[in-house]
Amino acid sequence: MGSLLSRLLRDIAIQRMYILLELGVTAVERGRIEYAKRYGELIKRISMRCRVDIPRSIKRWICKNCNVIMVPGSNARVRSRRKGKTLRVVTTCLVCGWMHRYEFTRCRKSD
Ligand SMILES: [Zn+2]
Repeated sequence: MGSLLSRLLRDIAIQRMYILLELGVTAVERGRIEYAKRYGELIKRISMRCRVDIPRSIKRWICKNCNVIMVPGSNARVRSRRKGKTLRVVTTCLVCGWMHRYEFTRCRKSD
């Protein structure tokens, strides 16, 4: 549907989100939590301004509550539990305490 130009802009927006995620991870590793929040906010802003959904692989690591980039082992805790084919993952933001729940279902036909 979209023109070549809008597809191109979408790609650029997503690329920028990945760069900001990386910068956020580095900020967290250096203990710069305020910076990590700024990067999380910027990712959300790009998503809104460009009307591009944040890819799931990025969204998972942005706290819904405080926008910080979550890095497991640093400012986030990840717990997962398998129940049959469903993998339940709880990511806790250690900055604000918010718990994010995700469920992944394996849908391989051979299982
Ligand atoms: Zn948080």
